[in-house]
Amino acid sequence: MKSAHWIQRTHLFRPDEYICSACDASCKKPYKVCPSCGTTMKKAKYDSSWVDEAEGFYT
Ligand SMILES: [Zn+2]
Repeated sequence: MKSAHWIQRTHLFRPDEYICSACDASCKKPYKVCPSCGTTMKKAKYDSSWVDEAEGFYT
């Protein structure tokens, strides 16, 4: 049985998202099972590279 994890995607102006590492679905909460692909999830992993707005995206 495969497993995956949530990748926490932090936004400055919007609530955080959690991205499924198996199917790339984004959810507002780190569910125990991905509602998109049904994969059992391990702990969420924080990846600061997703803080895209902080890089001056709108300037
Ligand atoms: Zn998924």
